[in-house]
Amino acid sequence: MTENEPVLNQHFIREKIAEDNRAGTFGGKVITRFPPEPNGYLHIGHAKAICLDFGMALENNGRCHLRFDDTNPTKEDVEYVDSIMADVQWLGFDWGEHLYYASDYFEQMFQYAEELIHKGLAYVCTLSPDEFKEYRGVPTRPGKDSPWRNRPVAENLDLFHRMRAGEFEDGAYVLRAKIDMASPNLHLRDPAIYRIKKAPPHHRTGSDWCIYPMYDFAHCLEDAIEGITHSLCTLEFEVHRPLYDWILEHVSVPCHPEQTEFSRLNLSYTIMSKRKLQQLVEEKRVSGWDDPRMPTLAGLRRRGYTPEAIRRFCEEVGITKFNSLTDVALLEHCLRDHLNKTAARAMAVLDPIKVVIDNFPEGEADAFEAVNNPEDPAAGTREVPFSRELYIERNDFMEEPPKKFYRLAPGREVRLRYACLVTCTHVLKDADGQVTEIHCTWDPESRGGSAPDGRKVRGTIHWVSAQHAVSAEVRLYDRLFTKENPGDERDGTTFLDHLNPDSFQSIRAYLEPALAGVAPGTRFQFERLGYFCADAKDHAPDHPVFNRTASLRDSWSKQ
Ligand code: ATP
Ligand code: MG
Repeated sequence: MTENEPVLNQHFIREKIAEDNRAGTFGGKVITRFPPEPNGYLHIGHAKAICLDFGMALENNGRCHLRFDDTNPTKEDVEYVDSIMADVQWLGFDWGEHLYYASDYFEQMFQYAEELIHKGLAYVCTLSPDEFKEYRGVPTRPGKDSPWRNRPVAENLDLFHRMRAGEFEDGAYVLRAKIDMASPNLHLRDPAIYRIKKAPPHHRTGSDWCIYPMYDFAHCLEDAIEGITHSLCTLEFEVHRPLYDWILEHVSVPCHPEQTEFSRLNLSYTIMSKRKLQQLVEEKRVSGWDDPRMPTLAGLRRRGYTPEAIRRFCEEVGITKFNSLTDVALLEHCLRDHLNKTAARAMAVLDPIKVVIDNFPEGEADAFEAVNNPEDPAAGTREVPFSRELYIERNDFMEEPPKKFYRLAPGREVRLRYACLVTCTHVLKDADGQVTEIHCTWDPESRGGSAPDGRKVRGTIHWVSAQHAVSAEVRLYDRLFTKENPGDERDGTTFLDHLNPDSFQSIRAYLEPALAGVAPGTRFQFERLGYFCADAKDHAPDHPVFNRTASLRDSWSKQ
């Protein structure tokens, strides 16, 4: 990241690292990692972890590794590996040469497991999964020793090797660490550390392995092999920490990283579970992982979110030790704040009605100079074409307006943004009495929008020239769920019961002509309407497609 990022908030991990640096705990080094499992697309919750892992390294002249925690071939895929790399880069972070795969350590991990066996600290167990659970027991009472707990070292080694050689079926044997069957922490009651998993082939190691290390065994070893100093993870791993430390204390690893936990991000009106996001994709409730309503980074990007807005949001949310629900309005606020400063303005009419300027010569055209971004003088100006026939928004006209309606109405004068003043003289209607055309006259002396005699005109509306405008598909997106916490299913409903039926609408709109030619992904503020972006996949000059990124104000806020 090169731009100036705004003020950083203090939090306990920042303080802890500063303290470690002062005390020289890790020789002043800060080496972190972001360890996704390639079994889905990254979402806004992962962004919080990415910003923390990479952020702490950057702030301390350290480094952050991107490590794929690919120890379970069942659900993992290269599609996910590729999308994760693209998303981390898009968010603005760089792992340099430090790209790692847990699967590259399989041989080393196997040797560490052998070391535990040699030391009498691991054994091959033949209990069935049900028996395993029953023997483990409950936290308040000690568990029961497996009958295989004291199997001789030589026999354990032999069985472990034969597990690797593929002699046994899935589930027939597991390798367990021999720790403490009476520990109040169930994770220490002789946890399984290796299991047999014959199919499917692993996306990197193919069929080389049919035994795979369990997460708790693998993760701490990955950290140690890479020389990680600060292993930052979410709160649910707090109870796994004694096991993390136990393993590292009992095998000859080069270092002992320190695990620190922080709370996950939960967002209102959003689900964050990879399994549920996958279900939305598989059941075609959304158009894909990158559907602009998805909380995935691919979805947010396609919706028009900027990496800066997401990073700012992650900083604002802060890092704490307690779980809470963050208001999605905060994310949208960070987005509007950034787009307001950076998005060029343009005019678009989403619900058009025609205006005819009767005293403007037929067949002629004019052009007015419009400011590209009032927040950014460097953005300059552009010419917007004008002609006798225009489109304005249907709701900017009322035939019988109330007193405080300052837009267009018979006999009333308004300002056409950047252009001139027009006065409505009469309207045409269809057989049903619906207004089909609004007739006006313009004041040629009011070029640019101010009256020569200084008369006051309160209303300003946006417009496009009918003859010049391009017709475009505009996709109006809204929140995917109507319930504040759709993932909470304790009331007997499922998250699918709370899908917002109005979260997507496709309409035809008229845009300033220049918008047809912009690059996919370009973001705009459509004046008075909101933020929009050219769709990254479907937008083309002969078929313009724009997504609504956000309205100008939070339409969901409780007033
Ligand atoms: P799974 O249930 O598949 O493990 P996961 O969401 O934990 O799902 P990982 O790929 O293991 O997915 O996540 C990578 C990293 O991102 C982990 O360190 C995890 O703690 C962190 N992470 C995941 N979800 C969130 C979240 N909502 N908020 C903050 N960090 C998260
Ligand atoms: Mg995980």
